[in-house]
Amino acid sequence: MKNSDLPERTCAVCRSKKTKDQLFRIVEKNGEFIYDREQKIQSRGSYVCRTHECVKRLLKHRKYKMDISELTKMVDDLKKNSKDYMGILNAMKSSQFLTFGINMVFEDIEKVHFLIIAEDISEKNDKKIISKAKEQGIKYIHYGNKNQLGEVFGKAEINVIGVKNKKVARGLME
Ligand SMILES: [Zn+2]
Repeated sequence: MKNSDLPERTCAVCRSKKTKDQLFRIVEKNGEFIYDREQKIQSRGSYVCRTHECVKRLLKHRKYKMDISELTKMVDDLKKNSKDYMGILNAMKSSQFLTFGINMVFEDIEKVHFLIIAEDISEKNDKKIISKAKEQGIKYIHYGNKNQLGEVFGKAEINVIGVKNKKVARGLME
């Protein structure tokens, strides 16, 4: 999807116009603003750039009173996204370094150094993968959704990606 096809919103802090995926949504609740991570809360929302700069300025903004815990969540999400996992995965997809899907990842588990688990994975599968990862001492993150992970390999949905190359794994972890 091209960004130019998406409707734009204005950042409440710096007033620049961006598409929703480049912005955090915040909504007012009982006189204070909260972070609407999923952009789904049924309430009038305001938008703020997904940048450290605008989030920092939001902290001092008089109009948008926000609890520090809400701002922390936004900063955490920024950190998570600061690494371009999708870019790295896309660059690696045709190599032998990646394996995907629960069955294949489990089959190759001895060679796996790092796991990327979809954020919208079912609780049951999440538990299954995490307990396997712990058992094997493999680090993991939750990143993207099943569709996004699937897209990398031209599949509809993927629950988990395993990284079989130590160097690549380290690059993703750091
Ligand atoms: Zn901004």
